[in-house]
Amino acid sequence: MKFNTKTIHGGQEHDPAYGSVMPPIYQTSTYAQSTPGGHKGYEYSRTHNPTRNALENAFASIENGNYGLAFGSGLAAIDAVIKLLQPGDEVISTNDLYGGSYRLFTKIYEDFGIKFHFIGMENASKIEDYINDNTKLIWVETPTNPMMNIIDIKTTAEIAKRRQVILAVDNTFATPYLQQPLDLGADIVMHSATKYIGGHSDLVMGALVVKDKDLADRLYFIQNASGAVCGPQDSFLALRGIKTLHVRMQRHCENGRAVAEYLANHPKIEKVYWPGFENHPNHDIAKSQMRDFGGMVSFVTKGNNYDEAIKIVENLKIFTLAESLGGVESLAGHPASMTHASIPKVEREKTGVVDSLIRLSVGIEDEADLIADLKQAIG
Ligand SMILES: *Cc1c(COP(=O)(O)O)cnc(C)c1O
Repeated sequence: MKFNTKTIHGGQEHDPAYGSVMPPIYQTSTYAQSTPGGHKGYEYSRTHNPTRNALENAFASIENGNYGLAFGSGLAAIDAVIKLLQPGDEVISTNDLYGGSYRLFTKIYEDFGIKFHFIGMENASKIEDYINDNTKLIWVETPTNPMMNIIDIKTTAEIAKRRQVILAVDNTFATPYLQQPLDLGADIVMHSATKYIGGHSDLVMGALVVKDKDLADRLYFIQNASGAVCGPQDSFLALRGIKTLHVRMQRHCENGRAVAEYLANHPKIEKVYWPGFENHPNHDIAKSQMRDFGGMVSFVTKGNNYDEAIKIVENLKIFTLAESLGGVESLAGHPASMTHASIPKVEREKTGVVDSLIRLSVGIEDEADLIADLKQAIG
């Protein structure tokens, strides 16, 4: 089955009771048993729920994995991965990282005795310098947030395999429409399904997908034991979102390109971060591992003035000033004061998150309206 068919049919069966084409929302916590243990595969909804299972099968299908797991948020999914580790273990992570992931790693898990190294991974061979006997996990985000750095998944996976380290890829920005990390050798793919997978800014959810049975069993154990599952209503919404993922992504990419090119030619703009530009430092890797370049675009204004950046995001009318990304509507964010406010200024500036950086999640509205909106807001 090709990707554009998998989004609609992958892992899905019509409901056995009445043949409903969409899975019913099984809004139940428990299931009747005829005799103790005599049930139809479902006992309690933290452990299994038919609507969530349908979604988990869809996740597995679109990421070319064998097992999918759905969580109450992206961070809950990341949390489950870190729970594979023990005190004393070490993790090598992308330095230009989603702020919430950085906070989880440094403010929660460092206290449990896990050590994190945050490094630039644009040159994947650098990862090897940080691997030692305690290294158990490599955590990669690509494209990175919000600097749009590209990390070579295949080369990273080869290093991870050779050194027997688990490689997890946060695929939130790219989605499986653009890249499928498991096919490139990653062990775990993670999503904030809140973003493109859900696609309509109406839910908060996380996902993990793996190929390996043993790894899946360990993660299912953690999912059930820690309990950060999503509910049946949200599972239904995410399933509905997945069905249009490919058509939405196609338009996100088209509009993203138009916006990136408009900004790159604007006299007041200093720099535009978008992996589709030939002068992007890892454009060749982006081209080889991604089908297109996505709808996320960041830019910096000339003079790098904080107040001017604030004024631009306030002036926007079609782009909504809001956290998050990946919905059908265009959003604008100011990382220094919003998503990355939890990262100390010196740390964030090292990775390029300067005062005037603006990040756009380009939606699927008409391209001409989006360009006109940027034009009136930037001046
Ligand atoms: C939003 C996001 C997360 C966290 O997901 P939540 O659903 O908000 O918990 C993790 N990684 C990336 C890249 C994100 O954009």
